[in-house]
Order: sequence, then C-alpha cells, then structure tokens
Amino acid sequence: MKVHDLVIVGAGLAGMRAALAALEAHPHLDVAILSKVHPVRSHSVAAQGGINAALGEQDSWEAHAFDTAKGGQYLGDQDAIEALCREAPDAILDLERLGVIFSRDEQGRIAQRPFGGSGAVRTCYAADRTGHAILHALYEQLLKRQVCVYEEWYVTSLIVEEGHCRGVIAWDLVRGGLHPVVGKATLLAAGGSGRVFSTSTNAVINTGDGMALAYRAGASLEDMEFVQFHPTTLKGTGILITEGARGEGAYLLNTLGDRFMARYAPDQMELAPRSTVSLAIGREILEGRGMDGCILLDLRHLGRAKIQERLPQIRQLAIEFAGVDPVESPIPVQPGAHYQMGGVKATQWGETELSGLYAAGECACVSVHGANRLGGNSLLETIVFGRRAGLRAAESLRGVAPRAISDHTLRAEERRIGRLMDHRGPERAWQVRDDLGRVMSLNLGIFRTKESMTEALGQVRALQVRAAQVSLQDRGKVFNTDLIQALELQSLVDIAETIVAGALAREESRGAHYRSDFPARNDAAWLKHSLARRTPQGPSLSYIPVTITRFPPK
Ligand SMILES: Cc1cc2nc3c(=O)[nH]c(=O)nc-3n(C[C@H](O)[C@H](O)[C@H](O)COP(=O)(O)OP(=O)(O)OC[C@H]3O[C@@H](n4cnc5c(N)ncnc54)[C@H](O)[C@@H]3O)c2cc1C
Repeated sequence: MKVHDLVIVGAGLAGMRAALAALEAHPHLDVAILSKVHPVRSHSVAAQGGINAALGEQDSWEAHAFDTAKGGQYLGDQDAIEALCREAPDAILDLERLGVIFSRDEQGRIAQRPFGGSGAVRTCYAADRTGHAILHALYEQLLKRQVCVYEEWYVTSLIVEEGHCRGVIAWDLVRGGLHPVVGKATLLAAGGSGRVFSTSTNAVINTGDGMALAYRAGASLEDMEFVQFHPTTLKGTGILITEGARGEGAYLLNTLGDRFMARYAPDQMELAPRSTVSLAIGREILEGRGMDGCILLDLRHLGRAKIQERLPQIRQLAIEFAGVDPVESPIPVQPGAHYQMGGVKATQWGETELSGLYAAGECACVSVHGANRLGGNSLLETIVFGRRAGLRAAESLRGVAPRAISDHTLRAEERRIGRLMDHRGPERAWQVRDDLGRVMSLNLGIFRTKESMTEALGQVRALQVRAAQVSLQDRGKVFNTDLIQALELQSLVDIAETIVAGALAREESRGAHYRSDFPARNDAAWLKHSLARRTPQGPSLSYIPVTITRFPPK
C-alpha cells in the first residue's frame, strides 16, 4: 500500500498547479500525482490559442467577468466568475515566474490576441502552442520539488469509507497489478470527456474517468448537457484549428465565397462566441452551402510571414493532415466536440459533495463557463482553481492523523478486473466505443431534438450492457492497453448517459445546448444548474439556482 498526505489524480495543468500550490503553502507535505500517461502527454499540452487575463490598460477584470457571464448565457455562477477573472492577471505573472515563456509584443510586454466573445484583446499566448509551454514549465517545477509521480498508473476507483474519500485504487500499467494509494485528501484533476463523441478535438485519453469516478462514488455531476462544439476542426480528423486563427484575422467562407458570419453576428463576425459560430456553420452546411460537411477557413490574406510567426503549428497540421497549405488555400473545417462545461460539482475551493474529495480543471464544474465557455478561459480555470483546490486540500490535512483502510474496495476491484480478464465473448471495447461516438455525434451534436435524444438514450443504455460484456484479447499484465480501453469504456458510457439525460430534460436552447424543438432561451423555467446523481435506474436529475451577483441576465 502507498500512503501520502495528498493524492492527486491527473497530471495536466490543474493537477500540477494544485500540487505546486499545496507545496508552496506546506513545503513538507507528501504530495503524490497519478497519471495514466506520462505527465506531459496530458491533454493540456495540446492547448493552442491561449489563456485569458485582463492585463492591458484598456481592460479590467470586471469586463472579463462580464464577457464570461454573457458568453456562458448567464448560467455561470458569478461569484466564481469574479474569482476567476480577478485572479487571472496574478495567475499569468505567477506562470511567468515559474518559467513559462509567453510571446511578446513590440514593447516587450506579454502579447495578447483577440479571441471569440471577448470585448477586449485579452488572450496571452505562446505562439499556437500555449498549453505545451505552460505544461512543460510546471512539470519542471514538479521535478524540482521531487513530487512523487505515479506515471502510467490508471485509477479504477475511489476508496470511500464512512462517507469520506481516503484515496484511490490504481492499476500499474507498466508492471500490472492493483494498488491502493491512500491519502488524507484526494483531488481529481482528470480532465475532459470529449471522446464520448466521434468527431472530437480531444486526445484519445479524454474519457471522462474523473467524472465517472466521482459519479460512481455518489457525487453529483453538474450541467453535463453543456458540451462545447468547437467551430473549426480539420476536415475528417477532429484536429483543432485554434480560434487564434480567427483572432489573427482569418475568415469563414461558404462555398459561394460568402463571409456568412455577417448574417449571424454582424458585429463580432468570426469572433462571436463559439456556440454562435458552430450553429452558423451547422446551418450553412444543412442548407447546402458547405462542401463534404465542411466550410472554409481562409488565412491567405494574413500572409506567409504572419502565419509562420503566429500560427506555425496550424500550418503544419493543415499540410500534414489535410494536404492544404493555408498560405495558398483555405482550410476545410467542421465543428467537433471540444469541451465539457459540466463536471463534478465543486465549490470555488474545489470541495465536492464527498468529504475528503476535491476536484479542479475540466473534470470539475465550479461553474464559471455556464452554457458556453469562452476560448482561453479553460487554461485559466485550471490554473486559478487548480491552485485554490490544492491550497484548500492541503489546509484540510492539518491535524488529521493517517488512518488504516479496510481492503474491501481493493478486493472488489480485484474481482471486477478478474471478471473482465476472464470473460470470453465476441464483443470488443473499441467496437462499442466507436458505436457510442457515432450515436452521440449523430444525436447530441450541434442540433438536438426530443426524437434524436430519445433515440440516443435507448442506444446508450444498450451500449452500457454491451460495455459490461466486452472481452479482452490481451490477458497479460504488462502494458495491457486492451484492459485500459475496457475500463475507459465504462467511464464513457456512464458519462454519455448523464449528457443525454440532462439534455433531454432541458427544454430550452442556451449556449452550446441548442434544441431545434425549443429554440429560445427560457430564463423563467431554466436559469438553473442540473445535477445528475447515479441510481441503479440511471441518472436522477435535480436542479439548483445560479448565483447572480452583478450581471443580471439579458
Ligand atoms: C486541442 C485542444 C486545444 C485547446 N486549446 C485551448 C486553449 O487554447 N485555451 C484554453 O483555455 N483551453 C484550451 N483547451 C481546453 C484546455 O486545454 C483543457 O480544458 C485543459 O487543459 C484541461 O486541463 P486538466 O488539467 O483539467 O486536464 P488534462 O490536461 O486533460 O489532464 C488530465 C490528466 O488526468 C489523467 N487521468 C485521467 N484519467 C485518469 C485515470 N483514470 N487514472 C489516472 N490518471 C488519469 C491524465 O493522465 C492527465 O494527466 C483546448 C483543448 C483541446 C482538446
């Protein structure tokens, strides 16, 4: 058995920031991080466009908060939004002190670019590799502080005794075998669930494990129906083409050569909030002005030099994966699942409903993004709320004595994995995963209706049954990726069910949740958060009010 003070699940930006915060405040704390992949392969590394903070003289945190509340269609809790935006400038300076090399403007200040839904130029960046720059800098800090990292360990469940979370059970991928990793506090920072959908910008590891772990342990998931579809992913691949491209001035064109955003958002054009741009693209394609399910992103007028300096990765990706050089031709793009606004219900300090369990980053719902996240606010969320959750979790340990745990959870997990290893049958995890992605993309994409979602709910329940019957080809212990896929599939089907249930119940359109059968926002009935709790019959839904402080819904 491994024993630590604080056990963190996830080595993305939220998990690393939490670990560093805990150690900055309490240098002698024994902090451990588990990650199913090497830390710098966490999805945060793929973030391209940037991170928001009101640094400019013309900008203010209040303006940032207003844009965030409005962009999220007033479903975000405004006390949390205020904390996010107020702490943003210091968070950026902290990152810089920790070694992050941001791009610079001519005066040598941290450069900022325009992003969607933002009233000011507010997004700090490191070319189009911002996540890479931040994640590597934080990882160096972890190494410096000699934090214990369980690299390539897959967490299969939380240990909950007497209503208190006492750590996790994890599978060691390299050597095989289940181990309890016990902590006085546990912090989930396990990232998003974008792989519930087939067209997705997310890494294949983004299977919603953190949300599923908490959900199975009895915690509520909040606002799961709100899944952001990014307007511009590379044709047929789901590879993200950053909003930074439009921030630098790229146009969206339909097959008539028309800058169609003029009809949907004449003021903000290509830099309207993502939900607006995705819906517009969806309409253009539905009404026959697309091509192969795509529209075009035109960067040519930016010129080779600017593309090379500001968007080198985008150019490389377009050349390698679509055979198109954006210096010479427009890039074919289509919307794809990108970000889960919902997640484990958590306070501004990361506390969840389960004693001893904290959550931060994309797997948590604090809620700052409401019904639609603004580009650049998610990296910020991981830093601000990762730090806060790390601090609060560390404080909670003072005076707490280590406790022995029973081996009940371990034995139950050993039986579960044993059954999975022994089961024989024709069903393979990847088949069920592919089918799930198709069902969700087809029925719960940009446009949703009661019929499409009822169809999806039936299919997801059938897929849950199939997921429980998958059989492994690899029965070995060492690097059994077949086993990990089967376990990830359990997370995916559970998370999918909460998305469908929440979306089917919410009879309005708000942000990323657009229902063709209820096209208007309905504040009188639906200005509230949904909570999904696990029951044997599926998710049970309840609702709680939204915190409004200074920005009344308009
Ligand atoms: C392509 C792309 C580009 C993006 N660009 C931007 C951008 O420019 N600006 C912005 O604000 N946001 C952006 N986002 C969103 C943002 O990057 C993410 O929301 C954020 O990085 C999530 O960080 P995280 O720390 O919560 O999780 P992640 O970075 O996803 O890390 C999750 C961690 O959890 C671990 N983990 C998960 N499950 C388990 C398990 N069962 N056992 C053990 N470990 C586990 C993983 O190994 C990993 O270490 C982008 C997202 C994508 C997909």
